[in-house]
Amino acid sequence: MAGRVELKGLGASGGIAIGPAHLFRRSEEVVRCRLPPESLPSEVERLQRAAQVARQQIAELKEKAAREHGAEEAAIFEAQGLMLQDPELLGKAERLIMEAKCNAEWALQRVGEEVASSLESLPDEYFGARAADVRDVVSRVLSILQGRSGGKLGDLPGPVVVVGEELMPSDTAQADRDKLLGLVMETGSCTSHAAILARTMGIPAVVGVKGVVDAVSPGDAVVVDGDTGVVVIRPSADELGDWQVKKEQWDRRREQLRLLISAAAVTRDGHRVELAANIGSLEDLSSALEWGAEGIGLFRTEFLFMDREVPPSEEEQFEVYRRAVEAFSGRPVIIRTLDVGGDKPIPWLGQLVEANPFLGLRGIRLCLAREDVFLTQLRALLRARAHGNLWVMFPMVADVGELRAAKRLVDKAKEDLACAGVPHGDPPVGIMVEIPSAALLIDHILQEVDFVSVGTNDLTQYTLAVDRTNATVSCLADALHPAVLRLIAEVARAGRRCGKWVGICGDLAGDALATPILTGFGVDELSMAPRLLPEVKEALRATSMREAQELSRRALACRSAAEVRQLLTQNRQSK
Ligand code: PEP
Ligand code: MG
Repeated sequence: MAGRVELKGLGASGGIAIGPAHLFRRSEEVVRCRLPPESLPSEVERLQRAAQVARQQIAELKEKAAREHGAEEAAIFEAQGLMLQDPELLGKAERLIMEAKCNAEWALQRVGEEVASSLESLPDEYFGARAADVRDVVSRVLSILQGRSGGKLGDLPGPVVVVGEELMPSDTAQADRDKLLGLVMETGSCTSHAAILARTMGIPAVVGVKGVVDAVSPGDAVVVDGDTGVVVIRPSADELGDWQVKKEQWDRRREQLRLLISAAAVTRDGHRVELAANIGSLEDLSSALEWGAEGIGLFRTEFLFMDREVPPSEEEQFEVYRRAVEAFSGRPVIIRTLDVGGDKPIPWLGQLVEANPFLGLRGIRLCLAREDVFLTQLRALLRARAHGNLWVMFPMVADVGELRAAKRLVDKAKEDLACAGVPHGDPPVGIMVEIPSAALLIDHILQEVDFVSVGTNDLTQYTLAVDRTNATVSCLADALHPAVLRLIAEVARAGRRCGKWVGICGDLAGDALATPILTGFGVDELSMAPRLLPEVKEALRATSMREAQELSRRALACRSAAEVRQLLTQNRQSK
């Protein structure tokens, strides 16, 4: 067995986990999805692109094999590369997509199996080896395709630390929470959706750990420090003991913070800030209530739409939204309409393959393009409003044009329900401010909404031009950057000017270091992963409004995120 290895990534969800490694590879099990005729050409294109990526990978493997092992080994990859140009495989799969109106994964797997089986039926051993090559090539393309459409993590062997290349949000959402001790990912950033889910579930996680998959073997002892980003593989017995002590200290601090659950969310001088929770499913409701959330500041509904062959019906959605508002008996529950695209693709939507999905058809843009899906969700939301304090929030709105289009569909959904005699309510309607244009035009937007909530994850991504899922640049994605803070401050100022409610539901709201400045900006609410609530409340209760305003003024005058961080760290140490 190899010795101790220590690797460093980005701490994405706090806490210490210690346990045996479980290597996660996305399952190749594929389901058949029926696609609408208009999305079939783009499905064919998706397959072609995946094949192109696979060809590139195979060409690199061929070169490496030639360098390191000689011509014979390289010839295997030469043959695999040729298979991806053979119309027998790809051409047939493309035709099957069009004829059977199905997804690329299913078509490719089916055609691949046919080709492999017919090769196997030939008497010569040579053809048996070619069948294995076909399966290998198909599996490579499938894993490229499935990198977009999710996999399974619902069946863990026991309490384990999951180590994998990359996790899709749906992988993490399906994870068996009792058995998932910690998460380590080769790729990703702190605001990628898998990281957000880890925080919601309170699972220590480190992302962007280069080389971890190669360094670990199944069953190796692994330590994950989700605060510092350190991952230790096969620690010595002594070191393991030290980590156990650290873990106990961390757990004790958590327990102390629990004492704050019922304390008021006010500054020393009595200024109140609502502290709410971000959730992604009904299962998260209990932890939101347990950690003292005063409401739900963000219900990410996209997880209801993932990992299924057809969209959830109006009835199914209504039940979920109704149960959420009833659990919070009268306190606000802000439900965000479907926000997919970017790193949250859904096969049955038949989304286009886009070179820059984060700049493409996502969020409200996609909902406006798919009125059928949007109207169903809106009707379910309006019906649930009749059962509690539900607010509706649109994601990724760039300007009033999109806002008006979305509001027109709310009116249409109301009319439909009224005509059908279905009981429904009239919820406050707002938007997420997460595109810089919305922050810059906030005065116009506030005229036409009941509230806004700042999504600092995307606002940071778009303001600083940093892909939130790209580990190589994720160190640049700092929401404490003064450029981002100035936009937030402006939104809060405009909200106060016209008496409109302003919340923050991006990850910055759950960073206790930032609590004084966000309070100083004068926002009404901070919404975060449930377990972060007590820590943020502690920071809020330790400051006065005057101090908070002074600190926010100084933060806005800083030149860089590093300067802001230093200012806030000094402030914390002075307490
Ligand atoms: C955000 O962008 O800050 C946000 C809360 O939305 P999401 O992270 O789901 O994109
Ligand atoms: Mg967002």
